[in-house]
Amino acid sequence: MTKIVQDLIEKDYEHEAIKEDCWEVWEGEKLYDYAPDDSKELFSIDTPPPYVSAAHLHVGHAMSYAQAEFVVRYKRMRGFNVFYPMGFDDNGLPTERFVEQTYNVNKSNITREKFRELCMEETAKGAKTYEEMWRNLGLSVDWSLRYSTIDPHCQRTSQKSFIDLYNKGLLYRDDSPVIWDTHFETSLAQADVDTLTRNGQMHDIAFKSVETGENLVISTTRPELIPACVAMYFHPKDERYQHLEGKEAEVPLFGHKVPIRTSEEVDMEFGTGLMQVCTFGDGEDVKKWKDDKLDTRICINPNGTMTELAGPFAGMKVEQARKEIVKALKEQELILESKQVKQNVSVSERSNQPIEFVMAPQWFIRLLDYKDEFLKRSEQLQWYPDYMKVRLDDWVNGLKYDWNISRQRFYGVPFPIWYCKDCGTVVVADEASLPVDPAEQPCPAESCSNCGSTEFEGESDVMETWMTSSLTPLVNANWAGTEGRKGDMSIYPMTLRVQAFEIIRTWLFYTVAKSHFHHDGLPWRDCMISGWGLNEQGKKISKRDLEKFTDKEGYNRYDPHSVIKKYSADALRFWAAGSHLGHDLRFNEKDVRTGRKVVIKLWNVARLCNILLEGFDPSAPRPDLADRSVEDRWVQIELAKTIKTVTDGFERYDYAYGREALERFFWGVFCDNYVEIVKDRFWNPERYSEELRASAQATMWESLRTLLALFAPYLPFITEAIFQRLYKPYEDIASIHIADWPEEEAELEAAETPDGMALILDLLNATRELRSQNKISQTKVLEGIRIDMDGADNGTKQMVQELAGSIQSATRCKEVVYGPADYATAVDGVKLEIVAEA
Ligand SMILES: [Zn+2]
Repeated sequence: MTKIVQDLIEKDYEHEAIKEDCWEVWEGEKLYDYAPDDSKELFSIDTPPPYVSAAHLHVGHAMSYAQAEFVVRYKRMRGFNVFYPMGFDDNGLPTERFVEQTYNVNKSNITREKFRELCMEETAKGAKTYEEMWRNLGLSVDWSLRYSTIDPHCQRTSQKSFIDLYNKGLLYRDDSPVIWDTHFETSLAQADVDTLTRNGQMHDIAFKSVETGENLVISTTRPELIPACVAMYFHPKDERYQHLEGKEAEVPLFGHKVPIRTSEEVDMEFGTGLMQVCTFGDGEDVKKWKDDKLDTRICINPNGTMTELAGPFAGMKVEQARKEIVKALKEQELILESKQVKQNVSVSERSNQPIEFVMAPQWFIRLLDYKDEFLKRSEQLQWYPDYMKVRLDDWVNGLKYDWNISRQRFYGVPFPIWYCKDCGTVVVADEASLPVDPAEQPCPAESCSNCGSTEFEGESDVMETWMTSSLTPLVNANWAGTEGRKGDMSIYPMTLRVQAFEIIRTWLFYTVAKSHFHHDGLPWRDCMISGWGLNEQGKKISKRDLEKFTDKEGYNRYDPHSVIKKYSADALRFWAAGSHLGHDLRFNEKDVRTGRKVVIKLWNVARLCNILLEGFDPSAPRPDLADRSVEDRWVQIELAKTIKTVTDGFERYDYAYGREALERFFWGVFCDNYVEIVKDRFWNPERYSEELRASAQATMWESLRTLLALFAPYLPFITEAIFQRLYKPYEDIASIHIADWPEEEAELEAAETPDGMALILDLLNATRELRSQNKISQTKVLEGIRIDMDGADNGTKQMVQELAGSIQSATRCKEVVYGPADYATAVDGVKLEIVAEA
């Protein structure tokens, strides 16, 4: 085998060109393709399918995907057969809203067909942007496993899920009041609702007792609902109102009469202790309406305007009606008091509009009956970090509704069902025919099994988007049996789910529920939960940050493409490894610059090693570690400790320990000390033996190689580039990314710093302290140092003299001399002084 020559690594590090070269190797070797027949142990990852409507990709996205990918690359090097797919979530409200805003259309002024077409177009564009982004960032995805939640495979999977749940009796259709988004004009699930705190007005409004004519005062922040009032309540123990039980109250302005009833749930301390119930102000109203079989008076339309019941206020938007009704009440002196209050308003997560309750038939999945089982599943799941578990438990415990999966929208997976027009009997599609669109396709049944009618109507609602994304493990495992897809049920349950914490209540919960219902088990063994990428002010990075910070040249520090172009993907990834798993990470351009410094230093130090390695024959026998110099043994010991820390961190899915340990080793040990010391063996060969040079070359060769492997999950491009130039000709593998992960060496890990090295480091520290005391730069070459060994024992004296060359190069001085000195070092009996310039 040939010996190492100089100039294997060029002077300039060109990250864009290196990126292209790396991808050529990776794609040429099909390095990231999942091999179904491979006998290696499987490691499969359920990755979050991003909304492709997010044309505003920012560094926060890059962060969370990079964090998961560090683990993927680590596992691949550990010898696992990696299944790493990428999906896109392109159906549902986020895409619909994006299309509405982009094209200035809404449900009322566009056809279903045209709207779906626009959604498809935008979806395709968005997916392309994402794919480019992920490649740019170096994600080692097997793109042949790609799916999108609107594609036929996913439609087939979610329709199959519907049919399975239907057959198992876990689905029901109900016409009760549901949470409603008046902007999108669709029902929502509990998980789609956020709480917003805002200022509101609390009004005390006078109703009248029909019997006695006395004022009955209720307090409400929603006076626009009084046309929908259907009852008044007081607490059964409230002495003030006993005479009213069973009587009636007259509603102001609207004049209709409502029964007065009692309920233990009324808070006697709130307002006057009287409470109105409307159909429907909130979940409590819905409950009273159901329990007490109250009348139904709907005063708000699905589009958020007032109904005919609101009389003169009909047709107004809710907000306007509120103002007008207050005005009318005031004119008649029916408002006794108004005061400002802080109120918690439930809003739709997607439109940010306050939710209403609307009655419309919907399909529900039974969740409330299975809370205990879900909590058990949460117990079985391995949580990383473990404190995230409580988020799921709290959500399950707080569930108030079954899961409403119907959406009165256009762009989503159709329900695989038809209804008999005469009696409403449901006809379910045949599994072999999936995917179907009952809004377009005829019912497969010839006549109704119940009434014999031959008239059917396809369901026109679509399933909500979580109905599909809750199935991603089964989409990956090709549960629906789509022909030509790689991956089968042998990968199910998967190994790992990666996701951010805020979608535990949705994506994680729904996936666990589906897996429980369909296969009576967990969808994956482990889950890895990430925090958020924050902007410089500590807020979640938003589209606004992207818009605000684009300069004339198009550079934007929040845009991953911009940042990668300027600093390299490796530098951006290095930043992403900066927070521990589960923690938020604030973005700061200077932190990416720090990443770039590491990358450039790695390049330069590899280049220096290449020069020092000239003439080294990697295939020739090397000196035993025990026979190598103290510096060489020391760097191997420190490296062994680093391997241990990086590995332990990755085994807990926490990449940040590894980055910290690598930074410590790379700067503190390898670059600033080790290479600095040993290079003198080559620059001034007359002072050193041939053995010392051989020892240094062997150690440099091995430790740089190990360092590249440890850095590879974080910095895939530069490590590959150096590997290809320096090591590839001597190894039987195509890429550093399929190299074996460095082995842990317990003995080395436990070893102490060799005595001689401890001595060198102590003298080095003393010199550094003297440099700062005397305001001499740490990098300036000194004329010399003077060592005073009067108080030292013979062993120390001998060691100092033997290591004089190393001490000289470590302390960066031109010579080491001996004589009186004042500054006490950490070495027993040894003092030191800097020799001033001549
Ligand atoms: Zn029928």
